[in-house]
Amino acid sequence: MTKNQTTLKQSLKNLLSLVSLFTLCTMTQAKELALSFDDGVNPQQNSKAVQINQQILDQLAEHQIKSIVFPSLVKFGDYQGKQLVANWGKAGHLIGNHSALHQNLNKPDTTTQAYIQSIQDADLILNTLPRYKRIYRYPFLKEGETVEKRDAVYQWLKNNQYALGGVSIDASDWFYNRKYLQYATLADTEKLLRLKQAYIWHLLNRAEYYDQLAVQTLQRSPKHVLLLHVNQINAAFLSDVVTAFKQHGWTFIPTEQAFGEPIYSLQSLNIPAGESVIWSLAKTQGKELRYPAEDAPYEIENLKQYQLD
Ligand SMILES: [Zn+2]
Repeated sequence: MTKNQTTLKQSLKNLLSLVSLFTLCTMTQAKELALSFDDGVNPQQNSKAVQINQQILDQLAEHQIKSIVFPSLVKFGDYQGKQLVANWGKAGHLIGNHSALHQNLNKPDTTTQAYIQSIQDADLILNTLPRYKRIYRYPFLKEGETVEKRDAVYQWLKNNQYALGGVSIDASDWFYNRKYLQYATLADTEKLLRLKQAYIWHLLNRAEYYDQLAVQTLQRSPKHVLLLHVNQINAAFLSDVVTAFKQHGWTFIPTEQAFGEPIYSLQSLNIPAGESVIWSLAKTQGKELRYPAEDAPYEIENLKQYQLD
């Protein structure tokens, strides 16, 4: 073997090990997840509001996760609630816009004009807060039941320099929160413990489902954004949820980074428009999907698995 042949053989060997290293990296690459929290809590209606807000912020800090809150005026109330929203910005999270009235754009009695007014009203209140950004999250993830309404709001958002604050992983934390409040009132610690397991299973299951749907739709696993709320179940279990996701191969990334994914800037071509951005793309591609994508009835079976009702 000549010197040249030996060098060539060595280069080929190096190339092959590089290729296998690359394959290994892509195969074992952790799925990326960002968190987002909707609505906010109102201290005038919920005696635990301050505690709920702070416990969620503490757990995010504990895991060094930078997130975003999408507050809605009707959910957080006035001055005191606004201070709780401000705490998110002070802690380094983004603050987006989730409208003043939390209307469902898919309802025929929600007019485009009133809907846009509600976005502007929220902007006026929120734009003085630290780290407020013009990112809009549609209440209920509903983006319009007619082409006219859907496109008029998209156009208005675009003209007013708003980014879309979509989610890739939709889930029903609000349903599990309802159960949490029910068992907490009864001080049923047994049931609360089982609920924690059921809740974690639900979130992991939804995350895997939407990730697989993304792989079928986009041929890749995108930077995911999970929809959660500022509520009591997350105040109680967020740290356990984060730990469970890490154990299942997920890596947490800042939500601002996730929103850099082009999928979050896409306008839906469906009617009715909305749901998770992955669900929406799959629907456009003609995939058979349940509607709405997430809802309480789907969760009854999961509760039964954990001897809960
Ligand atoms: Zn909401």
